[in-house]
Amino acid sequence: MPGTDFVLDELERLESLDQRRVLKSLKQANARVVSYQGSQLVNFSSNDYLGLASHPRVKAAAQAAIEEFHASAGSSRLICGNLEIHERLESRLAGLKQKEAALVFSSGYVANLGIITALVGEGDQIFSDALNHASIIDGCRLSRAQVFVYRHRDLNHLEYLLRGAPAARRRLIVSDAVFSMDGDVADLPGMAALAAAYDCLLMLDEAHATGVLGSTGRGIVEHFVERGELGPGKEYVDVAMGTLSKALGSFGGFVACSSNLREFLINKARSLIFATALPPSAAGAALESLHLLSEEPLRREALWRNFDALKSRLSESGFDVAASETPILPLTFGTEAAALRMSERLAERGYFVPAIRPPSVPKGTSRLRITLCATHFSGEVEGFAKELSELAQDRG
Ligand code: PMP
Repeated sequence: MPGTDFVLDELERLESLDQRRVLKSLKQANARVVSYQGSQLVNFSSNDYLGLASHPRVKAAAQAAIEEFHASAGSSRLICGNLEIHERLESRLAGLKQKEAALVFSSGYVANLGIITALVGEGDQIFSDALNHASIIDGCRLSRAQVFVYRHRDLNHLEYLLRGAPAARRRLIVSDAVFSMDGDVADLPGMAALAAAYDCLLMLDEAHATGVLGSTGRGIVEHFVERGELGPGKEYVDVAMGTLSKALGSFGGFVACSSNLREFLINKARSLIFATALPPSAAGAALESLHLLSEEPLRREALWRNFDALKSRLSESGFDVAASETPILPLTFGTEAAALRMSERLAERGYFVPAIRPPSVPKGTSRLRITLCATHFSGEVEGFAKELSELAQDRG
């Protein structure tokens, strides 16, 4: 077809760099064991940290929500799509995050786009961690605010940039709470102090923190309060964004914030205003997961037990996993080809862990991103650690 040669050229270029992506077709998606190319593989790549996506009560709640509210919300929240189930979900999320209010979006990705572009624009400034998620980066770009990128978790660099930046109408500091490709945790105490000192709004993306961090799964604030690094009962984060699609086993995004900020976002966040509301089934499933979060604490305990076991076995085998503090463990192999080869060899041995390559991670840091779930059996974790150790020895 004339005029589209660039399509094949680009695909060939990506292929030559080992960066071409293909969709892997799974029969039993998002389960502890997946069926891929005729083999049953133990899945160490899902973000369904607590195994709630397959919980019978969560599935039943999604079905009940369809019965009551149908398969689609039918329009945006501001037209006729604002259902009672959305508001019930929002008040439960606000309770979890100990905020006045919450607002759900159609996904975590569009939540970040909508929130950031509503909060800041031309004449404003954003201070963003170098390893923030792509949806934050895209929100920053779309906002037209001036973006200052600070070195990953380097608060001295952040302060240096804050001090040197010219006066601005509004300033926003934004960061992943748990970094999605590395599993390390943002230094909230340090960031909150800088936000206060330099009069900035503080926004954290708790996609991988909600349901995971803190003894009741409230997220990053609970984590630092329980470690004694933050005092209890105070607000440290102005904008606590999160997703329903990971530990909550459903789909959708949200923000927990003040009631005024919720009203502001309803008026200003274009990805809320111009998108169909969250499907009732997703809201119903997430609501049930929120009940289970408090009713079944054993799930979080199993998750952390699995994490501790794998992390210590991997460090014994010489892998550098010290920085990870959450159930995301990156094994960096440098080149794309090496990460792909490792992923294929693990598949041959019964484990599903796709390789993560640029642009999802910086060049030269292609990796296996291992995620643990509450549902992994301890024998599976042990077996996986043993295979990884043997493969690492083969590698040399
Ligand atoms: N933020 C982070 C840190 C994420 O890891 C993701 C998902 N990969 C998102 C936002 C986007 O969330 P969702 O998948 O719900 O769109």
